[in-house]
Amino acid sequence: MNQKSAVLTVTSTSTFESAKAVNLDHFDLSSALQTTLDFNKLISIFSRKIERLIPHTAYAYSHTEFGVEIKNGVFTRNAYTYLLKLEEQMLGKLTFMNNRKYSQKEIKLLENLLCFLIYPLKNATQYQHALKMAYTDPLTQANTRTSFDDSVKREMSLAIRAGKNLSVIFLDIDHFKFFNDHYGHQCGDFVLASLAKCIRDSLRSSDLLFRTGGEEFVILLSDTDIDGAKLLAERIRMSIENHTLVFDMHAIKVTVSLGVSALCKEDTAETFIKRADAAMYQAKRDGRNRVFVAA
Ligand code: GH3
Ligand code: MG
Ligand code: MG
Repeated sequence: MNQKSAVLTVTSTSTFESAKAVNLDHFDLSSALQTTLDFNKLISIFSRKIERLIPHTAYAYSHTEFGVEIKNGVFTRNAYTYLLKLEEQMLGKLTFMNNRKYSQKEIKLLENLLCFLIYPLKNATQYQHALKMAYTDPLTQANTRTSFDDSVKREMSLAIRAGKNLSVIFLDIDHFKFFNDHYGHQCGDFVLASLAKCIRDSLRSSDLLFRTGGEEFVILLSDTDIDGAKLLAERIRMSIENHTLVFDMHAIKVTVSLGVSALCKEDTAETFIKRADAAMYQAKRDGRNRVFVAA
């Protein structure tokens, strides 16, 4: 068994040196790597392009910041792992495996070739980071409104195709303005972040939480019928009611109103969502701190 593990930190000078060290006249590694911002495709292109120079039976790539885990091929005993870094920026961990040990010359060549992957990986990392920012609300870590519009359509077509249930819960904080007005905007932000955490603690990993407006959240529940959704909405309502938040020495009690609806055959995304929204407003009219289920 041979395991090599190293940190490969690249600077623009070392990329230039690598270009000189590798005769690239006969293969177009750099240009091929500029065709995508997808981690999976990048690593796969890299693997294919270097195959002739660095034979390998498998590769693995992970980038923890984005939860990326890629594995491909037949895993063998000889593993060469590189933690890829550009200056201080982490660009993931890449392993190549082979059924025989590499020579020192091959290792040097692999390391030189890896330098060509660094800038494309940096571009992909920045792109994925921008996507994450657009799809994740920084205050609550919930998914954003932009992401909600995409997700509803995707979840609806998945549910219809698989003949499964899909439910949705609309949640709005009761008298939220009060917290802003009495304790300041920072307190309002604290309530939002704490509540999102409280909601998340009640959800399964397949449930999707969105912050769709200032103090409005939506939860999409795949494979869940109206009774299941109602039970969950009630559980969330109770756990928020029973939770005391402390901000700046003030004990804060928060309640929420929730509307629930389940997907019907004749629904469009709009009607499905509208029913839950209307149900939530009915819960407000009925006195707040309650769940209303759409007919
Ligand atoms: P109701 O029970 O009828 O829902 O009353 P409410 O006070 O919760 O509802 P209203 O819609 O009147 O007020 C919502 C407030 O949420 C107004 C807005 O200033 C505040 N808000 C929206 N986004 C944010 C935010 O990101 N942070 C903070 N602190 N406040 C926000
Ligand atoms: Mg509101
Ligand atoms: Mg409100």
